[in-house]
Amino acid sequence: MNNTPIPASEITELTVGLNRLARNLWWTWSHEAQEIFNELSPRAWQNLYHNAVAILHEVSDYELRSRLQDREFARRVREVLQHFQGYLHEKNTWAHKHAPGLITEPVAYFSAEFGFHESLPIAAGGLGVLAGDHTKSASDLGLGLVGISLFYREGYFQQAINPENWQTEYYSLLDPKNLPVERVFDARGEPMVGQVEIGHAQLHFQVWKVNVGRCTVFLLDSNRPENEPQFKDLTLRVYGGDSTTRIMQEILLGIGGVRVLRSLGIQPSVFHMNEGHSAFLTLELIREQLGAGKSFDDALSWTRQHCLFTTHTPVEAGHDRFDENLIEYTLGRFLKQMRVPANKLLALGRVFPANTKESEPFCMTVLALKTSRAANGVSELHGQVSRRMWQPLFPDKKEDDVPIGHITNGIHILGWMKGPMRQFMKRKLGSQWENLAQTQECWEKMADPGFVSDEELWALRYNLRRELIEFARRRLLMQGRRMDRSDFIVYDRLLNPDTLTIGFARRFATYKRAPLVFSRMEEVIRMAKDPQRPIQFVFAGKAHPRDDEGKRFIQYIIHLSKHSELQGHLVFLENYDVHVARHMISGSDIWLNNPRRPLEASGTSGQKIGMYGGLNLSIMDGWWREGYDGTNGFAIGDDSHPTSVAEQDRRDSDNLYRVLSEEVIPCFYERDATGIPRRWIAMMRRAMVTLVPKYNTHRMVQEYAQNYYLRG
Ligand SMILES: *Cc1c(COP(=O)(O)O)cnc(C)c1O
Repeated sequence: MNNTPIPASEITELTVGLNRLARNLWWTWSHEAQEIFNELSPRAWQNLYHNAVAILHEVSDYELRSRLQDREFARRVREVLQHFQGYLHEKNTWAHKHAPGLITEPVAYFSAEFGFHESLPIAAGGLGVLAGDHTKSASDLGLGLVGISLFYREGYFQQAINPENWQTEYYSLLDPKNLPVERVFDARGEPMVGQVEIGHAQLHFQVWKVNVGRCTVFLLDSNRPENEPQFKDLTLRVYGGDSTTRIMQEILLGIGGVRVLRSLGIQPSVFHMNEGHSAFLTLELIREQLGAGKSFDDALSWTRQHCLFTTHTPVEAGHDRFDENLIEYTLGRFLKQMRVPANKLLALGRVFPANTKESEPFCMTVLALKTSRAANGVSELHGQVSRRMWQPLFPDKKEDDVPIGHITNGIHILGWMKGPMRQFMKRKLGSQWENLAQTQECWEKMADPGFVSDEELWALRYNLRRELIEFARRRLLMQGRRMDRSDFIVYDRLLNPDTLTIGFARRFATYKRAPLVFSRMEEVIRMAKDPQRPIQFVFAGKAHPRDDEGKRFIQYIIHLSKHSELQGHLVFLENYDVHVARHMISGSDIWLNNPRRPLEASGTSGQKIGMYGGLNLSIMDGWWREGYDGTNGFAIGDDSHPTSVAEQDRRDSDNLYRVLSEEVIPCFYERDATGIPRRWIAMMRRAMVTLVPKYNTHRMVQEYAQNYYLRG
């Protein structure tokens, strides 16, 4: 037995290493790293919402040093830090082999939001989560990628439900000291401060960086003492405020973002606009080229050579349009500097250049399309829909020839895999399992009855379902404290671990039709309360603060959960975020997705469930239209939709009830003599092997690299 104390210098090395690790989000997809932070203080780990930086403040330096004298603990910390160092310096990545040019000249990836983890809540929803997963995979693949976004000190709103079951929003101020962010300094060692002109004033901004494995994301922050108050709070909230706030945020994101890259000496090979919010970056690039003496046409063509654009939605409200008076008010001075007739510049944001500012507002999507060398939608169907939508921009092209392709979205597998599943994978696949998790072979093994038995998979499902139910009961108990006594329910009788569990969680945009499954109450109550084959629902989601229709949906569903016969079979969890999502996607047997086709451009939440053996029950829209093969889940309706919305709602509701009662429920409850649902588990295996290796961001980022980033 070795009982000599570990030398102080080595302890220091480990504490420094842990502090560095806490400030690199790599830990959020390393199981061993999370275990270490958890172990330091399991209770604080929960209360601080899994925030590694905050944990290291919670635990004193003295405690940390003392505890590192536990040899076993020190050994594990050392091992994690070695993995982390090895990861950072790996020289044999996918990019080294397939895209070495993108290591030296990175991709600049602009996104108004990034969703990495619950401890850095600066994303509003799916777009941000996608950007976060894109970055994590770019890092794993070794691709040079530099992210640009804004630092929202109040993040996105938190949801609380009032006694009338109405969504209310509240915000809390984030403290950078307790976040995985670091100040960016300039060459003189001073905090970097940049400027953009807005109207007649200068907006000053500072810069933070987030380390995401090998990649860096820079966050611009308007909270500077030299700013006027309205500028100071510009980056307070994600998509905060009116269209004036919005355009100013977008000016900062696009124009400020390019300036940050320039002052850091980063020379991107390509600028990737994740949605149109950042499209003003193209005006800054044009301005730079004009400044270097190019003509307007040459400056525009240089810019087009260096920009890519991904559009994310066919929903009209998802495309920013600004009144040109507002453009002139905020950007007028910037545009004048270019010495190009204003109309020529403003025409970049109009479908029809001959239109006047009165007849056609300035559209960020149009600007992005006109200034990019290539563009894409986020699923095959969304590509088609986008080509139709933007055909007028390309009058000499037939719809099929409109230059908008598609790359179907994905999710970052390890980032979405939680504890019990990781332990299961490790037990089955050995210590190298994390490197295998992206491969076809891995999921072929997981799906192979000779490798994992039906009984083991069923035990895993029970484990995950129970975790979700206990999580839901805990959350509901906390929610209940704010409710009135008449709402009091016996929480431990809510939901049943033996019951087929249907999850539904996403933004409560009306086109996603959250209440569709309750359109025939008698029928759904009969299904839910069937003594032999019951079902239950877990719902969550936020409505946009100004979307009363979406809030009414929430109110209705909560009302049903408390006051209808569905009580005990339906719950609504407040404050949907990445953490709630992780529980819901892992514990749900069925993931329900019933948007109005073709408005769900891709959807990603359904992609997160496959690794847990969850099954999709979805409209044939977005990614599911490509993923579904008749054996790996359930389809609501077919690859078509009527033009009338009323007709579509009726037809989809009919189909939903039919599939639930004739396919989903019988299959789940069909048990053999030993009590195992063989047919259901066979379907889980099909989902694992056909969906997980494909609908992930490793595949997605490789496609971006090969089909877009490298096609200069
Ligand atoms: C995955 C995810 C989304 C996106 O879900 P969709 O079903 O694709 O709309 C939104 N919010 C959170 C918190 C997520 O984890």
